[in-house]
Amino acid sequence: MNRYKDYLALFEKALKSLDQWRDSYGEIPGGRDGPVEPEAMEQLFERFCKRLTGNYPFHHPSYAGQMLKPPHPAAWVAYSLAMTINPNNHALDGGPPTSRMEKEVMEDLADMVGYGQSFLGHLTSGGTIANLEALWIARELHPGKAIASTADAHYTHNRMCRVLNTPYITIATDESGEPDMNALEEQADQIGTLVVTLGTTGEGRVEPLQKLKSWADRHGIRIHIDAAYGGFYTLIAGEEGIDPAPWQLTGEADSIVIDPHKHGLQPYGCGSVLFKDPKIGRFYKHDSPYTYFTSQDLHLGEISLECSRAGASAAALWLTLQLLPLSREGLGEVLLSCRKAAKKLAAGLGASENYTLYREPDLDIVCYFPTPRDRKTSSVSAISKQVFENQMDKREKPLYLSLLKVPSGRFTYLHPGYTADSSETVMLRSVLMKPEHEDFADEIMDRLEAQEF
Ligand SMILES: *Cc1c(COP(=O)(O)O)cnc(C)c1O
Repeated sequence: MNRYKDYLALFEKALKSLDQWRDSYGEIPGGRDGPVEPEAMEQLFERFCKRLTGNYPFHHPSYAGQMLKPPHPAAWVAYSLAMTINPNNHALDGGPPTSRMEKEVMEDLADMVGYGQSFLGHLTSGGTIANLEALWIARELHPGKAIASTADAHYTHNRMCRVLNTPYITIATDESGEPDMNALEEQADQIGTLVVTLGTTGEGRVEPLQKLKSWADRHGIRIHIDAAYGGFYTLIAGEEGIDPAPWQLTGEADSIVIDPHKHGLQPYGCGSVLFKDPKIGRFYKHDSPYTYFTSQDLHLGEISLECSRAGASAAALWLTLQLLPLSREGLGEVLLSCRKAAKKLAAGLGASENYTLYREPDLDIVCYFPTPRDRKTSSVSAISKQVFENQMDKREKPLYLSLLKVPSGRFTYLHPGYTADSSETVMLRSVLMKPEHEDFADEIMDRLEAQEF
């Protein structure tokens, strides 16, 4: 059960060897650390742990709510060890080894998305900042033009466009949720960059990149892919019903964002952005009178909007990818289990008399609702909220789910037997992003079926 304990011996051994390196610089006179009083420390740690256990059980498959899970133990060990040194991947002065690790993992990511070895990219503190960089470059390349996405795109795009003082267009979607190509055509000359989400945060939808890319090409419009959540699914494209077409095209997009702290088994603080054309580096150009002296090589800070960044993040991702490379057999296995879990739960819901599957999941996020007798959208919302709360509050075998709100027009399009008596419909949502969900999907179904409403 405790995967972290298995790594403790490795951690201690590595810590000792780092201490040897530290000690090799000689003793430090007048240490400033106060004496550790064992009893007081023990009490403090007890209090501390008690506070931490106030979390939902993110590590357990009964938690199928939001996009949360603990990192791989290798990432934990690597992060903790590197953090005792605390390198800063801004300039090579701040951490030569972890900067090199960052360049290596970026090359791996570039390979994975089909950029080959000519690209520009780096890690960021998260997906929001990574997208901000891509939108900023979008604005610089097409000043005055709008950035567009569907309403299913992450909410931060709209907000970041306000930060960038750039017009933002929400593309209309048809009733099924697909971008409305006629509406798009009418706005073509206003748009500079189109954001396409591969794995939307709500439903895990993969937007039709093929159609959007060829349309954008005809109009000279750039494509930014937000694959913060779904990006690593490219490793198993074509398997388990995952349409390979959009993933085969990622290499042709102008920029792409992928969050290793979502499906890359990393602790928070690890996003990434990649640009197909390395020449965009000119927009980042700046000088810093006190850094960049140790090497003529490219310093990551010279191509990043953020200044200080944890070298420990690069270390954690690097070590994780040595164990689980970006291949079908490496990290792909983990995603395959998540995808199978989603298909299993979707099949269970499809066969249930008490629940209805909202729509077949594209990836590993499943949306569904308890079937109301009166077939009204307001009832779908009310019972969904009831099941959500009751499950979470159960003493025995609780289930942690989340809720999703969609326009009722879209809901009744997919479920024509329903009457829309509310403008929005709330339903249940499960993010099955832990490989353990594969064996637990039936149990989730059982717990749902045991719920009365
Ligand atoms: C999570 C997510 C983001 C935001 O990323 P953070 O790492 O939370 O800042 C952006 N886009 C999509 C599609 C996401 O799922």
